[in-house]
Amino acid sequence: MPATVPSERHCGTPFPPSARFRLRAASGPRRPPLYCRAVIRVGGEVDAFCNRCGLVLAHTIHAVVGGRPVKVECNTCHSVHRNRGAAGATGGARPARASREKAAAVPFDALLAARNPSAARRYSPQETFAVDEVVDHPTFGRGFVSAVRDAGKVEITFRSDVKVLVHGRA
Ligand SMILES: [Zn+2]
Repeated sequence: MPATVPSERHCGTPFPPSARFRLRAASGPRRPPLYCRAVIRVGGEVDAFCNRCGLVLAHTIHAVVGGRPVKVECNTCHSVHRNRGAAGATGGARPARASREKAAAVPFDALLAARNPSAARRYSPQETFAVDEVVDHPTFGRGFVSAVRDAGKVEITFRSDVKVLVHGRA
């Protein structure tokens, strides 16, 4: 059984952090752990993320493509699977990240379009505005009334900001 500890010669292939390699990175600046070409061969051993175990664990390499272990067997649960760890390290899409971006707030344009932009009124302190009315402001641009406050104040949501402005000043 060849040693699986990385040697000083590295091939530059990034690899997810693991307890074994973290020892090397503990001192000095943080950098992606590397693993050595010498251990990447069928029958060799590599640390990879096991979906079933939910951990980065030692895996036996079943297939190597382009110097990367693409198919591995978990030494703990013995499930054979694609090497997800290596796929992620080479820029593979991560669904979790994509769905998080989708959770962003509703865009301003959509909020505006849901009102009645064709009935937009020019803002003036003398005018009186109601919730959901679309307002054109000389400085802030087009917005919509998101709330009517007490004491002659109206909250208008513009693209860049939410402003509380006076209205109904007779
Ligand atoms: Zn496993």
